[in-house]
Formats: sequence, structure tokens, C-alpha cells
Amino acid sequence: MKENIGELFICATPIGNLEDITLRAIRILREVDLIAAEDTRRTRKLLTHFDIHTALMSYHQHNAVARIPELITRLKNGDDIAVVSDAGTPGISDPGLGLIKAAIEQGIPVVPVPGPSAVVTALVVAGFETDTFVFAGFVPRRGREKRQFIEKVAEEYRTTVLYETPHRLINTLKMCMTTMPDRPIAVCRELTKVHEEILRGTPHLLLEHFEKTPPRGEFVLVISEVSEKRGGAKSEVGDESQDPPIEEAVMELLAKGYDKKTAIKMVAEDRGIPKREVYGAAINIPAL
Ligand code: SAM
Repeated sequence: MKENIGELFICATPIGNLEDITLRAIRILREVDLIAAEDTRRTRKLLTHFDIHTALMSYHQHNAVARIPELITRLKNGDDIAVVSDAGTPGISDPGLGLIKAAIEQGIPVVPVPGPSAVVTALVVAGFETDTFVFAGFVPRRGREKRQFIEKVAEEYRTTVLYETPHRLINTLKMCMTTMPDRPIAVCRELTKVHEEILRGTPHLLLEHFEKTPPRGEFVLVISEVSEKRGGAKSEVGDESQDPPIEEAVMELLAKGYDKKTAIKMVAEDRGIPKREVYGAAINIPAL
């Protein structure tokens, strides 16, 4: 057993381009006794590229509960450990934070090794205000939770950064179109990679684009701040108690040009209720 307790290094790694790693990160990854990696396959590629031969251990959301005590014991026994996420800075929307908190609780030194993070990378290319901004993390998958989340974002006046998956992007843009139609959004795709793309526009324009070109790869959405110039965009939808009757909500969407099937689906998803319930309530609308 070593004399001193070890250190936990929070080690940022590239979010795409392998050149985006710091000299210090390369040295630390070489020197530590163990690397706790969210995605060992991806990290192995990185290590091979830089000719690093440190031992790897998987540490991801499904084994974090079991792994944390194991890693803490090794740190207490004197091993230095680097934690890396599949990409970017560990601890932001990934399992890194659990280990960081446990180490702090146990009095183990936590050492930052800063570098790329998808949040900041997207924020600075979006071109919106950066003096103050909100990072809201992953957009919830669907239903009421998602609707409430998007409404909150629509009410936020600061630039807001979100993580989103390719298969849910279109639905999210549709919700942005209803709740914040005038807010410019930057969709940042595959940052630092071969197919890097930054598209800026209103939710409507972006939706048109992605309906023609299906979204692929990794995405960060940056929603612009509300500037006085734009007249202070506000959510059109209030909290549940202020929801218009179902019939009215469907009619609003029809007036915006949605077809009846989509309008019913959107209202059902928005309110977290079955489609047949919306259909039943909206049966008397002439267009139906
Ligand atoms: N902790 C990481 C960080 O700070 O960059 C983020 C981890 S989170 C699990 C992964 C999400 O970050 C992806 O789903 C995507 O939304 C975003 N992301 C990561 N790399 C990206 C890239 N190269 N381009 C666009 N978005 C990316």
C-alpha cells in the first residue's frame, strides 16, 4: 500500500477532433495508475493514438453505484485515478459527478484537467450573448416533462444551451416553433468532426431543413437570449392551470398550418394524455 492517498483527476478529452487534447491531459493519462472511462472503446482509441498504456476500467451510468466504492478504496490506498467521459469534460451530463462527489466526501483531492466541453464549444460558435447563459442539459425524452422543460426555456431570457439526440431533434424544434417561434436557434452538429455543421435560424427554418435532411450525429442546441430588439419572446403556453381547453389548443395548431393528425399528436404529447382523449375533445371542430 502506498503512503499517501491518491488524487482524482477530472480529465477532459476531445469531443471529436483528437488534436483537441491538452499536453497536460496526455501526461496525466500516462502517469495515473488507472483511468475510469465512460466508454472504454472510445477511450482506448484515444490512448492508442497517443501511445498511452495505462490500465482502463469501465465507469458508466449502469455500473457507477458499484464502481464508486471500488474506485474510492483504490484512491485511499494511494492510486491516482483519472476519470474521463466518452467525450468532453467529465461531470457534465455524464456519470463523472457521482465519483467527484464521493471523492470530495472522503477528503480525496479532486484535480481539474480542463479541456473541451460540448457546452462551451457550441456556445461560442452560436454567436449569441455569452456574458450570462444557462446550460439546461439533456432535453427530457417526451411528454409532459418535455413540454414543461421547453416552456421553461421559452420563458428564460438568457442564452440557453441544450443537449439533444438526433432522433428527437425534429420534435424538439416543433415544440420550439410553438413556444418561441421568433427566437433564433443555433443547431451545432458534430462539432470538431469531419461533418461539423452550425445552422442558425428560427425554429421554423431549422425544422424545414431537418425535415429534408434527417438529423445525424451529435447535437447541441443554443437558443438565443431574448433581446429587447426582438421584443422579448415569451412562452405562448402557461402552466397547466392556464392551459387552454383541448379543443382550443388543437384549433390553434390547425390555424398555424398543422394537419389534424399532427395537431392531435402534439396536443396529446404536450399534455401527456392519450391521443384518443384529444380526438374525443376535438371531434366537433369542423376541420376534423
Ligand atoms: N460531458 C460532456 C461534455 O462536457 O462535453 C458531455 C457529455 S453528454 C453525455 C454528450 C452530449 O454532448 C451529446 O449527446 C451531445 O448532445 C453533446 N456532444 C458531445 N460531443 C459533441 C459534438 N462533437 N458535437 C455536438 N454535440 C456534442
